[in-house]
Amino acid sequence: MVRPQNHHNEKVKPIIFLDFDGVLNAFDEPRILSEKCVSAFNYLLEQTDADVVVSSTWRVLRSIEELRLILETAGFKYPERIIGVTPIAYKDRKKLNILLGVRRGREIEAWLKEHPKVKNFVILDDDTDMEPFMDRLIKINSDKGLTLRNVKKVLKLLGEFKKE
Ligand SMILES: [Mg+2]
Repeated sequence: MVRPQNHHNEKVKPIIFLDFDGVLNAFDEPRILSEKCVSAFNYLLEQTDADVVVSSTWRVLRSIEELRLILETAGFKYPERIIGVTPIAYKDRKKLNILLGVRRGREIEAWLKEHPKVKNFVILDDDTDMEPFMDRLIKINSDKGLTLRNVKKVLKLLGEFKKE
């Protein structure tokens, strides 16, 4: 089988699928977004060339520009690296009544289907409904939000999938 060529030879960047609640904020810290978690996320993006796709439900009522602005206001330094959001599965009318029943992994799968060149990705989330991508999940403790320990794990995982 002949593999399709990448005509422009542009580099396909790894993707970090990003949840907000329980990742960029901590239940222990009564803030909309945590400075500490956002700063850990800044650090993560400084250590990798990965771009970010928002999988959080925050994407439902806000445009990508609004999401960038919210993050920037909370101290995020790389708003231009937020390149998209996962499709909202319950826009499908049949699924409208199961708003919270849609597994996030399926929404991520739908995004990946639209971006078939992306092979290297990780998922940052405090939930675990990530099938079929459980092996890509860095499970965050929602009491603390994203920590530097988590960041190390993300970088390790991105490195492992790079080899494939
Ligand atoms: Mg969450």
